[in-house]
Amino acid sequence: MEAQESGEHKYVYDFAEGNKDLKDLLGGKGANLAEMTNLGLPVPPGFTITTEACKAYLTTGREPDGLAAQIEAHLESLEREMGRRLGDPDDPLLVSVRSGAKFSMPGMMETVLNVGLNDHSVVGLSAQSGGNDRFAWDSYRRLIQMFGKTVCEVPGEEFEHALDEIKSAKGTHNDLDLNADDLRGLVDAYKKIFAKHTGREFPQEPREQLDLAIRAVFDSWNAERAILYRRQERIPADLGTAVNVVAMVFGNLGPDSGTGVAFTRDPGSGAQGIYGDYLANAQGEDVVAGIRNTVPLQELEQLDKTSYDQLLGIMARLEGHYKDLCDIEFTIERGKLWMLQTRVGKRTAAAAFVIAGQLVDEGLIDLDEALHRVNGAQLAQLMFPRFQLDHEFEAVAKGIGASPGAASGKVVFTSARAVELAAEGEAVILVRRETNPDDLNGMIAAKGILTSRGGKTSHAAVVARGMGKTCVSGADELDVNVPAKRFTVGGHVVNEGDVVSIDGTTGKVYLGEVPVMPSEVVQYFEGELDPENTDDALVRSVHRIMTHADAARRLRVRTNADTGTDAARARRFGAEGIGLCRTEHMFLGDRRELVERLILAHGDREREDALAALLPLQRADFIEIFREMDGLPVTVRLIDPPLHEFLPPLEQLAVNVAVAQERGEDVAKEEALLAAVRRMHEENPMLGLRGVRLGLVIPGLFAMQVRAIAEAAVAVVRDGGKACPEIMVPLVGAVQELETVRAEAERIIAEVVGDSGVEVLIGTMIEVPRAALTAGQIAEAAEFFSFGTNDLTQMGWGFSRDDVEGAFFWRYLELGIFGISPFESIDTDGVGRLIRIAAEEGRAARPGLKLGVCGEHGGDPDSVHFFHEVGLDYVSCSPFRVPVARLEAGRAAITTTGSDSR
Ligand code: ADP
Ligand code: MG
Ligand code: MG
Repeated sequence: MEAQESGEHKYVYDFAEGNKDLKDLLGGKGANLAEMTNLGLPVPPGFTITTEACKAYLTTGREPDGLAAQIEAHLESLEREMGRRLGDPDDPLLVSVRSGAKFSMPGMMETVLNVGLNDHSVVGLSAQSGGNDRFAWDSYRRLIQMFGKTVCEVPGEEFEHALDEIKSAKGTHNDLDLNADDLRGLVDAYKKIFAKHTGREFPQEPREQLDLAIRAVFDSWNAERAILYRRQERIPADLGTAVNVVAMVFGNLGPDSGTGVAFTRDPGSGAQGIYGDYLANAQGEDVVAGIRNTVPLQELEQLDKTSYDQLLGIMARLEGHYKDLCDIEFTIERGKLWMLQTRVGKRTAAAAFVIAGQLVDEGLIDLDEALHRVNGAQLAQLMFPRFQLDHEFEAVAKGIGASPGAASGKVVFTSARAVELAAEGEAVILVRRETNPDDLNGMIAAKGILTSRGGKTSHAAVVARGMGKTCVSGADELDVNVPAKRFTVGGHVVNEGDVVSIDGTTGKVYLGEVPVMPSEVVQYFEGELDPENTDDALVRSVHRIMTHADAARRLRVRTNADTGTDAARARRFGAEGIGLCRTEHMFLGDRRELVERLILAHGDREREDALAALLPLQRADFIEIFREMDGLPVTVRLIDPPLHEFLPPLEQLAVNVAVAQERGEDVAKEEALLAAVRRMHEENPMLGLRGVRLGLVIPGLFAMQVRAIAEAAVAVVRDGGKACPEIMVPLVGAVQELETVRAEAERIIAEVVGDSGVEVLIGTMIEVPRAALTAGQIAEAAEFFSFGTNDLTQMGWGFSRDDVEGAFFWRYLELGIFGISPFESIDTDGVGRLIRIAAEEGRAARPGLKLGVCGEHGGDPDSVHFFHEVGLDYVSCSPFRVPVARLEAGRAAITTTGSDSR
C-alpha cells in the first residue's frame, strides 16, 4: 500500500492488510473479510475505514485530517485493481458501503449497494453487462431506494408503494416480470420520492454518494435505537463502527447468477451437513428480505456444479480455520463464486452443546474451549419442558420469546377472569395487547402470558421473567379485542375459553393444546438417561461438558432447600450441600395453631408451652434433611419473616368476629387474634420486626430452633449417620446482635452435643448494608457469612421487590438505567461492591471465614462469575439452577480473560 505521510494516523486498511483479530479496529465484518482475503478466498477487493476514524468524526463533528486523502488513495488503488473508475459513464466501478461494528447491532445503518450509479453510468453498466438494460436499471432503482432509506431517512414504504403500484399495473407479483422500461419508470418515480423528502435531487456525483454513505454509517452509531441497545447490552458507547467499501459483484445478471446464505452445520440442531438458501438472479438483500422464495442450497448442485463444489470446499476450509460453525454470504456472478461475508454463526442452545462436543471429537478444540463455547443460559433453556411438535401443529403467530417455557391453557382477556378460572383449577393464558401493573394478579394466576405488543423489556416480559412464567410478547399478527373477548390471527377467531399454546423460548403461538414433553437434559440429571449409553448427541455432549466444568471449578455449588424431597432432587442435580434451609415453612399448615398460641401467650409459661410443642416438630424436619444430605453442610436459617405473616389477614378476622358475634358464639380467641394483628401491624414489614430482631425480642424462640437443630444432628449421628449443621442468623446489622444470639446458642449446643462429636458452626447472613460495611467486626462473631443478595439488593437500592418489579422496572429497562433487573443479575457496581468489601474485611478479621451466597443470584450466570471473582467459597441456588451454577462456575474458572463473544 502507498506510504503514509510521516506521523499521519492510518484510518483506512485494504482487505489484504487486516485479519480476524482486528475486530476492535475493523469491526467484525471488516476483520473477517480481511481474514478471508488472506486465506486466498475469492473476496471482491475493497477496504475498511476504521472505528477510530468514526470515533474522531463523532467527537469533532467532522472527518479527521487525512481521512479524505486516504480514502482517495485506496479508491484509486481499487480502481486500478478493477480496471474501472467509480461511476465512470462508460465502464463504471460500483461499490457497496457496509457498516460493521465490533458487535453486530440492530438499529445501526445497514448497507447501500450499487454506489456509483447515476443517469449516465447506468448506461455504461448496461453495456458492461452485454446490453442487459433490465439489470442496469434494476441496480439503479435499488441504489436510490437504499440510499434514500438508509442515508437520507426517506420512509421505505414510499418506495415499496411505488414498486407495488408498477407491479399491479402490470398485473404481477414478481419483480422479475418488470422489464427495463418499467424499471426506468420506477427510477423516475423513486427520484421524485427522494426529492420530495430531502428537498434535493438524488446526488449524481459518485464520490459524493460514497462520502454521504460513509458519513451516514458513522452517524448511525448514535441513532436512538443503537444507543438504547448499547445501554441495555452494556456495550461501551465509545467503540464506534467501521465502514467497509467493497467492489460490487452481481447476482442479478441472469439465471447463471444468484446469491445465497449458508451455515457449515445446522444452527438449529448442530447436525453436520449443508444448510442454506439460494436465490437465482437476485441481489444480496433479496434473500434476507424474503421477497422471492429461495431454494435449499443443495439445489445449487444442479444449477452450477462447479460453484457448488467450490463453495463446499470453502465452507470446510472456513470451519477448520475458525474452528467453529460459520455463517456465510456469497454471490455467484455468471458462474463465478464470490464470498461476501463470514462470521461465527449464532445457534440454538441445543446446537451450541452438540457442536462443541463434535468439535472436540474432530480434534478442532479442547474441552476447555468447548466449555467456553456454551453457557448457563443455554443450559437453563434446555431444562424447560418443550412442546412435542409434529406436522399437526403449525404456529399461527410468532412473537418474542420473552420468558421461556411451554404453556397451554384457556384464553382469557382480563386479569379478573384469569383469577376466577384459575381458582376453578383451569390452566389459563392471559392475552392482552400489552399488560400494565393492574394485570399483576392475572399474571400470577395464569400459566402463561401472551401480548401482541412490546418487546423483551415490556411490562409483560419483565414481570413474567421475574415470576419465572412463560411469556410471548409482541406477537403483532394477533388482533386483540378485549371488550369483545376475542382475538383474530391469520383468519382464525379465538374466543375466551378456547385453548392456545405458547412457547416462551421460540415465541411461537399455536391453536389448541400441544402436548408437552420433558426435557431430556433433566432426565439425564435425574439419572433416568445414561449418558454413556444413549444415541442422544445432546445428552452425551452435556454430560461431557458438565464433567469437565466440575473438574475445573473452584466454587462449590449448594442448593436452597427446605424439605427432604427438595434436598434429594438437588443432590441428584449435583448440589454439594444446602446453603439456605428456611425454617418458616415449618410454622405453616397445621402448625399455625401453635404459632398463634406463641403470639397470644400471656406470660412465660404459655409461651414456653407453645415453644415446647414446636420443638419436636422442628427436630423431625431437620433429621429428615440431615439424613438426606448425609454429612454435606446444611445451613439452617433461624426464623426470618415477621410473625404477623403467620396470622390471618385483618379483614378476614374482622369478618369472623362480626359473624361469630351475630350468632352469639364465643369470640374471645378471634378478638384476641384481631387485637394482635392490629398491634403487630407494620407500615414497612420488610424493615420491621423480623430476622435477628425477633430472636432478641421473643424469649426462647431462637433457643428452641437451635436446640432442635443440635438435637437432630445428634440423633442422626447416634444413628450412625453424619450431620454437618451451620446455624445462620438473618438480618444482622451489628456485631452486638450476633454476639447476643451466639452466647445463648453456644450454651445450648454445648449442652445438647455433649460427647457426640457433632460440630455446629454459627454464622450470619450479610443482607443489611450496614453488616457489609462493618463486616470486620461481625466476622469476630461469625464462622461464616452468607450473602443474602435479595435483601441486600432491596436495601442497597432502597426498593422492595414486590412493589417495584411490576411498577417501574420496565421503564428503567427501557431507559437503559438497568441493563437487566438487579434481582436477576447482581448489580456489580453497587450491591457487588458491598459484597466485595464484606468479603475482604471479613477475611482480614478472620482468615478462613467461609463465604457463600444464597438467593436467586446464586444461579444466575453473570452473577456466578462475579462471585467466583470476589473469591466466595460457594453459591447456593434453587435445585433447578444447580446445574447452571456448576457449568458457570467451571466457565468462570477457565475464563482467564474477558471474552468478546456476545
Ligand atoms: P448485513 O450485515 O445486513 O448482512 P451486508 O453488508 O452484509 O449487511 O449486506 C447486505 C447484503 O448485500 C448481503 O446479502 C450482502 O451479501 C450483499 N452485499 C454487500 N456487499 C456486496 C457487494 N459488494 N456485492 C454484492 N453484494 C453485496
Ligand atoms: Mg451480511
Ligand atoms: Mg433476607
